Amino acid sequence: MERESYKAESGRTLYRPVVEETELRHALFSDNLGFCLECGAETDGIEPDARKYRCDECGMLMVYGLEELLMMGLVRIGAVS
Ligand SMILES: [Zn+2]
Repeated sequence: MERESYKAESGRTLYRPVVEETELRHALFSDNLGFCLECGAETDGIEPDARKYRCDECGMLMVYGLEELLMMGLVRIGAVS
């Protein structure tokens, strides 16, 4: 997945995934991908509805499952630039 940075309401710079629709379907149904909002790292083997798991890269409790991120409106679906 691609990622992009964005400014959260708190003023912090966080990351969100950017995926094309076909890639999203694949990721949702087969990969169990998680994504760290803090650093943008991807982790697999994460349940789709996971929230606040610890990130192996940055150690923050900011890893969310892909389905959860979709519900939160934090996945941008569209062409990857
Ligand atoms: Zn992280």
